[in-house]
Amino acid sequence: MSDYRINTKCVQGGYTPGNGEPRQIPIVQSTTFKYATSEDMGKLFDLEASGYFYTRLQNPTNDMVAAKIRDMEGGTAAMLTSSGQAANFYAVFNIANCGDHVVASSTIYGGTYNLFHVTMRKMGIDFTFVSPDCTEGELNAAFRPNTKAVFGETIANPALTVLDIEKFAKAAHDHGVPLIIDNTFATPVNCRPFEWGCDIVTHSTTKYMDGHGAGVGGCIVDSGRFDWMAHKEKFPGLCTPDDSYHGITYAEKFGQSGAFITKATAQLMRDFGSIQSPQNAFLLNLGLESLHVRMPRHCENALAVAKFLKNHPKISFVTYPGLEGDKYYELAQKYMPNGTCGVVSFGFRGGRAAAETFMRHLKLAAIETHVADARTCTLHPASATHRQMNDEELAAAGITPDLVRFSCGIEDAADLIADIEQALAQV
Ligand SMILES: *Cc1c(COP(=O)(O)O)cnc(C)c1O
Repeated sequence: MSDYRINTKCVQGGYTPGNGEPRQIPIVQSTTFKYATSEDMGKLFDLEASGYFYTRLQNPTNDMVAAKIRDMEGGTAAMLTSSGQAANFYAVFNIANCGDHVVASSTIYGGTYNLFHVTMRKMGIDFTFVSPDCTEGELNAAFRPNTKAVFGETIANPALTVLDIEKFAKAAHDHGVPLIIDNTFATPVNCRPFEWGCDIVTHSTTKYMDGHGAGVGGCIVDSGRFDWMAHKEKFPGLCTPDDSYHGITYAEKFGQSGAFITKATAQLMRDFGSIQSPQNAFLLNLGLESLHVRMPRHCENALAVAKFLKNHPKISFVTYPGLEGDKYYELAQKYMPNGTCGVVSFGFRGGRAAAETFMRHLKLAAIETHVADARTCTLHPASATHRQMNDEELAAAGITPDLVRFSCGIEDAADLIADIEQALAQV
């Protein structure tokens, strides 16, 4: 499947039925798996043979869907997780321990920021947040001897900043650590970060990949390109024996292509168990089958909405990386020439009150915390997700009281614009 183009991988990747086997991927709704002898099972526990024994760690349905996403991203190994939060936690915690440090972009998704800044700090892992627009000098200055990874988002949710992947990859590699990118908003249809030097990709599959608001999920993909053994002293978890697996050294036994995901499965999934249910994996796969058809429509609709708003007298600003003149337009053209995402944000000359009036009068666009769905959804952060903040705190978070986040679905653009137009008329 890896020789096919992305559109074909979306539809047929990850699973090729044999003679007389089901055309659709089977949902293996089983917690456990039967073996003929204790020796057979023992080999699985020693990671001497590959196979399934308990769905807290691995399930065949999940692995088929993970293999599809792996092929779409152009990686060597992948695993599904129960959520995007779990994917980002595992991706970082797999290589950073208590006493370690990570450099991260400051505009990352609020949930990830909280995970890093509050929860993982309690685990003894420190983070330095740098602006995605920082100079190479500023970026290099953020590294410490105990830095283990660099983290960013291709297109940040909801800030809509675009990461200069090559700049971040170079800094990471100059310091002997991998670059991890959350590619949720772009999806591999619009950007494949591995092609630009990124080492590990994560996803909240809850968004465009599922696409239908049906199941929460996440995914981690390894490019197989990071040479852990060349930086042995930095990554003891991968490069020295694991006592909980009879002294296996992941980077030796599974090589560059398999070490990262095998360790994340064998240790983190075993101990934390944040696995996606096989049912949800099946639904995710249905979403993936049409991702390449939906993404261009999301982008087309968002661009039409952004262009309409840009010239509207009641609108004070429009942020959309696919819109000519946007601060990130050039970077977006470089990394995502076929389109960015469906999310647009904008503000009102009439301030917070105008935004509230606008939201009240929308008919087609639904008010939801969700984004990246087939159905258009929208949020006024100042009165929802960020309502506990005053105007000063909002400003520090890069959100103005009048900002509306508008996630364009795959409906007809003319209907979306008509809905916006009638709501604007009430402002
Ligand atoms: C939603 C989101 C997450 C968190 O994913 P969940 O599936 O909600 O846990 C992480 N990163 C980005 C960019 C997101 O949009």
